[in-house]
Amino acid sequence: MQNDQTELLKSYYWLNVAFRVPMGGLFEYKSESFIKLGSRVIVPFGKRTMIGIVVDHLISPTIDPKYIKNILDVIDDLPSLNEDWIRLIKFTADYYQRSIGDVVYSVIPSPLRTISSYNGKRSKGGPVVRAYESKSGFSPKEYIYSNHNYELEEQQKRAIEIIVSSLGEFKTILVHGVTGSGKTEVYLRSACHVLSMGKQVLFLVPEINLTPQLENAVRSHFANIISPEEILVVHSGISMQKRVLSWAMMQRSQVKVVLGTRMSIFSPLSNLGLIVIDEEHDISYKQQSRLRYSARDVAIWRAKDLGIPILLGSATPSLETWNHVNNKKYLLVSLDKRIKNICMPSIKLINTAKLPYSTVLTKELQEAIDLRLQRKEQSLIFINRRGYAPVFHCYACGWVSSCSRCSVFTVLHVLKDRSYRLQCHHCGLHSAIPRTCPICGNQDLKAMGLGTQSVEEELSLVFPQAKILRIDSDTARGSSVKDLLSDVNNGEIDILIGTQMLSKGHNFTKVSLVGVINSDSMIFSQDFRASERLFAQLMQVSGRSGRYSNGEVIIQTSFPDHSVYQSLVSNDYIGFANNLLKERKKTLLPPFSFQALLTAESKNIETSIKFLEESKFIIEGITSKNLSYNNKIICYDPLPARVFRVANIEKAQLLIEGHSRHILLSLLRNWLSLSSISFRKNNKVNWSIEIDPLEI
Ligand code: ADP
Ligand code: ZN
Ligand code: ZN
Repeated sequence: MQNDQTELLKSYYWLNVAFRVPMGGLFEYKSESFIKLGSRVIVPFGKRTMIGIVVDHLISPTIDPKYIKNILDVIDDLPSLNEDWIRLIKFTADYYQRSIGDVVYSVIPSPLRTISSYNGKRSKGGPVVRAYESKSGFSPKEYIYSNHNYELEEQQKRAIEIIVSSLGEFKTILVHGVTGSGKTEVYLRSACHVLSMGKQVLFLVPEINLTPQLENAVRSHFANIISPEEILVVHSGISMQKRVLSWAMMQRSQVKVVLGTRMSIFSPLSNLGLIVIDEEHDISYKQQSRLRYSARDVAIWRAKDLGIPILLGSATPSLETWNHVNNKKYLLVSLDKRIKNICMPSIKLINTAKLPYSTVLTKELQEAIDLRLQRKEQSLIFINRRGYAPVFHCYACGWVSSCSRCSVFTVLHVLKDRSYRLQCHHCGLHSAIPRTCPICGNQDLKAMGLGTQSVEEELSLVFPQAKILRIDSDTARGSSVKDLLSDVNNGEIDILIGTQMLSKGHNFTKVSLVGVINSDSMIFSQDFRASERLFAQLMQVSGRSGRYSNGEVIIQTSFPDHSVYQSLVSNDYIGFANNLLKERKKTLLPPFSFQALLTAESKNIETSIKFLEESKFIIEGITSKNLSYNNKIICYDPLPARVFRVANIEKAQLLIEGHSRHILLSLLRNWLSLSSISFRKNNKVNWSIEIDPLEI
């Protein structure tokens, strides 16, 4: 018997295979022949067959070998994924508390991991990749190169020197540069050195809209040293066909530069030499659904694992990053002047506290716009709320229109035919406006507050001769943002109105005035990160002004003494950040503590809360029994989420805080393994866990 067992163990290779199924994602299989780590394999699973990735070679199985099935086939249309990549996936799964199969499923393009793409046939030779290739995915494009042979500024030279001297070892370098200081040029020249060493470069930007601009810069900069096909752009907006082909090219090492949004951090590159994260503070780097990872944080881990440098660029770094600069974990490279000695825009605060509530444009802002119209320059008016008015209500009884499916007010919108409609920004439901108040019958219902549409209306009344363009997610739906933006730079527009869509990274050549309306609401948000965010957002939108000549920024506020505004006026990121860090240290908020957020969703809030109360009970059971958690974990009470109902699903949250990452993660692991069975049985509640949540 014993001998049979030994014989059995010796005559097979034992493997861990990752794929995604509801009950976890790592399963043991056997094979008569050796299979490389990182191979895609076809395996039987119950009555189905699945595609999985081989992630471990086992010396012997951990369960009774007679239950272990054979691998059916190896898909060899692509080289196997390399060990670095497998480590990255394992780290991500471990850190964000997901199964390895879940992570694999989230990051590999679906045709490469779905059995139906292979027709259920166990044929080798890669029908999928070849099928896509035969559809001629990449037609060679003509690229027009703009000539970028700048004389570098002194501060750019210094930055590049420091970066280049760090190549070949792990180092996190913060490129802290004011808007218009030429950070991109610094990234590109540093990347040049990496390419000439024969290594690959990965560039991340926070938004799809920003990729064309960077792609252009990358293509023209590297035109002479690599061929156009060796540069890939990866984001969720490209076709699946292109994604599969890009993935295949990366796995075959046919690529030198990849640029993309957060998902591209999982690119299967085997010879990386540098990672660049532009606008590192941007919360778009955090995926807010399913696998809730931070691409920036994963990138830092990847760089460390590979022993390569990573550049984080920003004018307003996140406090997490700035804290690491203060404690010398990150190296700081500063670009504190704009190129060609262009001044930073001057920022003026206009106090609206004593003005009538209905004021949209103050006298000062109107005069400033008027001046731009005379000089044929452009003005950009920033208001971070789309629609006509955020509130529609009855003065007589206080009724406010709200969504029938969500716990939010509905927003008043004007349609093309000038009729009005109420719209829910959370579930998309819309309805006609009632003629009379549904509570008291009053006929005098009013809109309150401002949105991009009412600001547009006001501007066209005050400046009837001006050409006005509004850019928000409503107007960007029909035509692409790219086209709208090119109208702006071709000078056919006088006044631009927009939401935060406009604040990021775009280069507007003729904008010399930025007006900010209604930013105060963010100061009073409950989120402890609100002022950090507002500062970053306003700094960024201010940066759109006068990038090629001296610009002006006018902020209308009822709280001009608030530290956010005062620090903006003095262009003092460092003072502002250090003050916020002091406060966070006192109150032990991140980055001085570490958080995880457990979210429960169900048909009613009581069920969601009850689920979290039980979870809290289990967590407290663990912490009370285990001395290493003593006083190092705080588990708060479950609370309804800020917007607790969306589309009739009701959501509650439980915040868990730990003194260290290590302590927090170990607790969560403990707790998940204790709860996994009861979680699986509970079909009334959908739950998820988020590590390092950015929005609570
Ligand atoms: P940032 O990202 O720091 O806001 P950019 O990298 O977008 O700034 O640079 C602003 C503009 O200045 C870009 O149009 C860029 O091409 C240009 N630029 C960068 N470096 C130089 C330089 N040394 N001389 C002239 N123009 C430059
Ligand atoms: Zn009423
Ligand atoms: Zn709704």
